[in-house]
Amino acid sequence: MPEHKVTAKEKAIFVNGNTLPRMVNIKFPNGSVGHFSPSCVHCHKVFASGYFKGTITTPLPHVASVVAAGWCPGCKVLSMFTLRFRADGAVERCVDGVWSRQEPTPTIKSVCRGLRAKVRRSVISMIAFFLLFLPLVLAVIRMPR
Ligand SMILES: [Zn+2]
Repeated sequence: MPEHKVTAKEKAIFVNGNTLPRMVNIKFPNGSVGHFSPSCVHCHKVFASGYFKGTITTPLPHVASVVAAGWCPGCKVLSMFTLRFRADGAVERCVDGVWSRQEPTPTIKSVCRGLRAKVRRSVISMIAFFLLFLPLVLAVIRMPR
């Protein structure tokens, strides 16, 4: 991992931030919950309570923004977290100014919903196929030999 120099702005996020729980749960109006348990970027240990600080804001009802920092006394490393949780379950992370998106993990419910839509689509296309070709088939059958 490349050495990252902590900036004054990053330090301020920790110093001025609210103490956040070690396991963050963000509840959205649609009932979905964003889970997040931050850990040290260096040793991957979960931060001791009081060592994870920052702010969680909801700029939109379906978006929660986390800007936080965790201090690991063992590594003497400040880990930065800039994340966006979305009500659809997706999580976006910003690392060194570059955002990446992690799609929601499919639930059994969403897989079933997808399958149902697929079946519906194929049934509709089968009906459309028969309606298009039925007159042709009938014409061939009735053709005088
Ligand atoms: Zn550590």
